Amino acid sequence: RKRIAVMTSGGDAQGMNASVRAVVRTAIDHGCEAFAVLEGYEGLIRGGEYIKPMSWDDVRGWLSLGGTAIGTARCLGFRERKGRLTAAHNMIKSGIDAIIICGGDGSLTGADLFRSEWPSLLEELVSTGVCAAEDIAGHENLNICGLVGSIDNDMCTTDATIGGYSSLQRICESVDYIDATAQSHSRAFVIEVMGRHCGWLALMAAIATGADYLFIPERAPSPLSWGKEMCDVVERHRNNGKRKSVVIVAEGAIDDQLNAITPDMVKDVLVDKLGLDTRVTTLGHVQRGGPAVAFDRMLATLQGVEAVEAILSQTPDKPSPMIAINENKICRKPLVDSVALTKSVADAIDSRDFDKAMSLRDPEFIE
Ligand code: ADP
Repeated sequence: RKRIAVMTSGGDAQGMNASVRAVVRTAIDHGCEAFAVLEGYEGLIRGGEYIKPMSWDDVRGWLSLGGTAIGTARCLGFRERKGRLTAAHNMIKSGIDAIIICGGDGSLTGADLFRSEWPSLLEELVSTGVCAAEDIAGHENLNICGLVGSIDNDMCTTDATIGGYSSLQRICESVDYIDATAQSHSRAFVIEVMGRHCGWLALMAAIATGADYLFIPERAPSPLSWGKEMCDVVERHRNNGKRKSVVIVAEGAIDDQLNAITPDMVKDVLVDKLGLDTRVTTLGHVQRGGPAVAFDRMLATLQGVEAVEAILSQTPDKPSPMIAINENKICRKPLVDSVALTKSVADAIDSRDFDKAMSLRDPEFIE
C-alpha cells in the first residue's frame, strides 16, 4: 500500500483545507494510506508526530474551513541542504512514498530542488551510515506533486491558484465597505492589497470595484509622471460628478526605476495636487481569512483528486507534475518548467522588461 503525504506550505490560502481533504480521501479511495505533514517543511524536518496518519473522518467539514488546519510555516531550515537531508531521512523513516505539496511559488521551488537533489541526499544518508542500503530500497525516486495554493495567483502556467478568487472576493467586499464611507464624506481612499510581486489581485479588484486608478508591478510607471497621470484621471472622474475616489496599490507596486510606490506616497500626491481628503487603508490579513469561495473549493477538490492520480501514474522518466487549470480544464504541467517560468517573470521585472513580464504570465506562453 502506497503511503501518500500531503502538506501545506508558505503563505496560507483559502481552499488549502479543501485540497488536503481531497488528497486524503482520494488516496484512501485508491487503497493508499494518507498522511499529513504538519507545519509545512518544518514538519518534514522535525518528523515523528509531525507526520500524521489521516483518516477519512479527520477531514470532515474541511471544505468550508478557512486557513489551513494542518498548519503552515516559513521554514529557513529547508533552504539549507542539511535541512533537506533530515527531511529525506524522515520521509524514509516513516515510509512515505510520495508527497503532495500545496503552496506558493517559494514552496514549489523548494519542492523542485528537493526532487532534483533526492538521489544525492540518499547517497549521503547511506555513505554517512545514517541509513542502510536496504532502508532506501524502493525510495530511489522522489514521487512529488505540486498544488498551487496562493492568494496571489502568481504562478505561471496556471490560470488560477487555490485561494486567489477567495482573496479577491474578500478585497472586493472590503472595497465596497470603503466605497460607502468614501461616498458619504466625498473622500479619496488609497487601498493597499496583497499579491507580493504580482499585480493580479490589485488589477482584478480594480476592475471588479470600478476603482479610479491602480498601481501594479507589471505596469510600472515613470517616477516623473505617475502623480500627474493619476491625478488627471481622478480629477476627470470627480468632474464627472463622482463623490469618491479609490486608488488601489499592489503591495509590490514600483515605478520603472524599481522604486517602491507606497500608499502614503500616493496619498500625499492626492492631497497636495488635488486637495482631496484622503485616507490610507491597508487591508492586511483579512484578505487571507474566512472560508473559500465556491470556485476555490471546486478547484482545490478537482486538483486534489488529480494530484493523487498523477502520483499513482508517475514513472521515473516523467518530470514531477504541478496541477494547473487552463481554459477551465484541470491539467498537469511539469513542475520544473512552471517554477522556472515564474522565476523568469521576477527576473524580467528586476531587469525592467515589464512587457516581457506580462507576456510570461500568460499561461499560453509555454503551449
Ligand atoms: P510561498 O510558498 O507562499 O511562496 P515562501 O516563499 O515563504 O512561501 O516559501 C515557503 C517555504 O518554502 C520557505 O519557508 C522554505 O522553507 C521553502 N522554500 C522557498 N524557497 C526555497 C528555495 N529556493 N529552496 C528551498 N526551499 C525553499
